[in-house]
Amino acid sequence: MFRVWIIKSILLFIVMAVMTIAGIQFYKHRYFKMPIVAGPGVTKVVKLSDYIEGLKGTAADTNVFFLEGKDEGGKTLIMANTHANEPAAILSAIIFAENAVVDKGTLIIIPEFNNSAGRNTKPGDGYPLYFEIPTDWGSKKFRMGNRDASPLDQWPDPDVYVHYPDKQLLSFLDVRNTNRTWPGRPDGPLMERVTYGAMQIMRSEKVDIAVDIHGAETMFPVTNCIVAPEKSMRIATMTSLTVKARERFDNHVEPSPSGFRGLSHREIGDYSDTMPFLLEAPLPFLDQPTGPKTVNLLLDGKDPFLLSLSKKKKLFVPYDETGWPMEKRVGQHCSVVLEIISQFSRKFPDKAIKLHNVPRYEDVVQNGVGHYYHDPNKANKADVYFN
Ligand SMILES: [Zn+2]
Repeated sequence: MFRVWIIKSILLFIVMAVMTIAGIQFYKHRYFKMPIVAGPGVTKVVKLSDYIEGLKGTAADTNVFFLEGKDEGGKTLIMANTHANEPAAILSAIIFAENAVVDKGTLIIIPEFNNSAGRNTKPGDGYPLYFEIPTDWGSKKFRMGNRDASPLDQWPDPDVYVHYPDKQLLSFLDVRNTNRTWPGRPDGPLMERVTYGAMQIMRSEKVDIAVDIHGAETMFPVTNCIVAPEKSMRIATMTSLTVKARERFDNHVEPSPSGFRGLSHREIGDYSDTMPFLLEAPLPFLDQPTGPKTVNLLLDGKDPFLLSLSKKKKLFVPYDETGWPMEKRVGQHCSVVLEIISQFSRKFPDKAIKLHNVPRYEDVVQNGVGHYYHDPNKANKADVYFN
């Protein structure tokens, strides 16, 4: 009898120790703070809750950077971390926020759009909690998030998510997915309030272009592309053709299906005057048949299983021993955003948006992503923002 109690006590101790260690790790992950240095073009930083009362004081509230040019012109909104496990998006958005100088028009950037998903993780898939990008002054540490908002911030989930206002039935998980909760409502579940806040920015600021940056599996056909509804199609096509001709990378155009509700590229266009674009770059880390989900896989995209699948023509992007390095993905996003802005400005000269100091594909591939990040320890304290 005594022996049984000893064994039970040891087992209980081990379980408690594992729970404590994991608990501390999750707690630190949730409250990790990543600095963004407001670059020379930033004119103000506000909160998403300034546009929707219902986000005030919640973990879903997030910073919104405004870069206003001296001359009036059109307006572009860039959103990243809609899915916080697709990090090329936030890495690109920070390049814009820390470097862009706007000469004409306005650039609005939300680098951590689903701020709650940024605090979530996927232990069942063995996600790393953090990753680091080498810079000229050391390395910049990022938190790896998840596709959906944290259940600590929005809970419980329904059995089925009934999309608002279309009433289409979606998976229960999509109630925490900010690429299914568009256009949102002011008093809905927290993630509907996040998308509603962005809709309010677009409507009140009269935003012309909205770019929602993502990453997608190499085995998924909607990857390495621009997703655009009818109203954005012409500019998306011109962008795709121009980057292919001038910068030699593929980025085809996918039409936004009108039957799937809740997606940014669908609802933004239908519920505002803004033209939406959703960018996808290949993200081997998200593919199912890969080796362990390591930081290396996240950053260089090299995986032996994907390589053999590519030889069997099962992937939707070119893939070889070089994988899909982060520099290529971030470089593509930078060039595609810049090209969308430039094509829009050509078509609507009275609403042109002109900016400089943002690298293009070739620059990022050559210099690395971290080359464009500023040292928060050397920056003016008032210019460093945490979410
Ligand atoms: Zn995504």
